[in-house]
Amino acid sequence: MFESVVRPEILSLEPYVPGRSIDEIREEYGLERVIKMASNENPLGVSPLVLQALRKHADTVFRYPAGGNPRLVRALSAHWQIAPNRIVVGNGSDEIIDMLIRMLARPGRDNVVCFEPCFSLYPIQSLIQGVEIRREPVNEDFSFDFDKLLSHVDANTRLVFITTPDNPSGFCPVPDAVKALAEKLPATCLLVIDEAYMDFAPDKGETEADWSLFKRGDLPSNACVIRTFSKSYGLAGLRIGVGVLPEELADCYWRARLPFSVNILAEEAVLAALDDDRFRALTMDTVREGRRLLSDALEKMGCTVWPSRANFIMFIPPDSCPAETLYQKLLQKGVIVRLLKSYSLPRYIRLSVGNAEENSFFLQKTAEILEA
Ligand SMILES: *Cc1c(COP(=O)(O)O)cnc(C)c1O
Repeated sequence: MFESVVRPEILSLEPYVPGRSIDEIREEYGLERVIKMASNENPLGVSPLVLQALRKHADTVFRYPAGGNPRLVRALSAHWQIAPNRIVVGNGSDEIIDMLIRMLARPGRDNVVCFEPCFSLYPIQSLIQGVEIRREPVNEDFSFDFDKLLSHVDANTRLVFITTPDNPSGFCPVPDAVKALAEKLPATCLLVIDEAYMDFAPDKGETEADWSLFKRGDLPSNACVIRTFSKSYGLAGLRIGVGVLPEELADCYWRARLPFSVNILAEEAVLAALDDDRFRALTMDTVREGRRLLSDALEKMGCTVWPSRANFIMFIPPDSCPAETLYQKLLQKGVIVRLLKSYSLPRYIRLSVGNAEENSFFLQKTAEILEA
């Protein structure tokens, strides 16, 4: 009955297919040990200081959070040395992405530009909003051609999305190229720089300022950056994202956002996480070491591996064992990885860097399959 009245943009959506869960696979294959290296989560779990804070504040959850999350904004402002009136927080960076599209792009008139493949939310939330999405394929080596991306931009382009480092490839453009892109966009087009994985970009001896315009204090006036606590801080389940926006847009964001989308425990968790330098350093070391170990080992097994500045690695297995086959065989042995079919890359696998034990379990199982 409602088929005829539901908006056509909604009827055209495919249901989101999440990765398989550890419990599901354990049950399906009767396995004792199942590991998940599929969703780019923190391989060390969550900081002990965060757990302490969550326990301590559990009995406050009958209260509403403070409107505008002022403590959180103040803490982030101090941590990043950014004026508080440019900071917004959301229920994951997903909410910020959705809000930016809804705030700026008029249904049926404006358009949004991004690469193909890219993080699925940019095109999906645009589609839901009734906004045209224009996409430019990434180069064959998964690097970005910003001039080609620019060729899609016109007077009705309200947002351009880029991900640095990129998901699913791990490619990271140099900041000067990103800056040049921003400078070539019309003043009324917002460049959204999604830095979900930026903390992982620097190699030893480098800093984030070598890779991030935001961190080098050089964000152009028509650009914004979004970051998340889901990956490097290990808070994916609590849903907290942060944006640094031009002041007028930050003001609009707070007026339009659902009032309590960032909850009390999420707030406490972030405040504690920002204080735990030790957990953070350990996370970075684990990811940097694991990324190198896994890349080297996969190459030795005949895989084609893309260089990554994120906490995951994209690769194509050798011809003798196509991606779909390897994916299924790994599941049978208790390892969940991400087959990139949903990114229209059916020959590719994305592997999240695990902790030392998970990495060696994965390599052992992969060797068994590829050498069989
Ligand atoms: C994981 C991810 C995010 C983070 O999403 P949250 O809603 O903050 O969990 C954002 N952008 C990209 C490209 C991602 O891969």
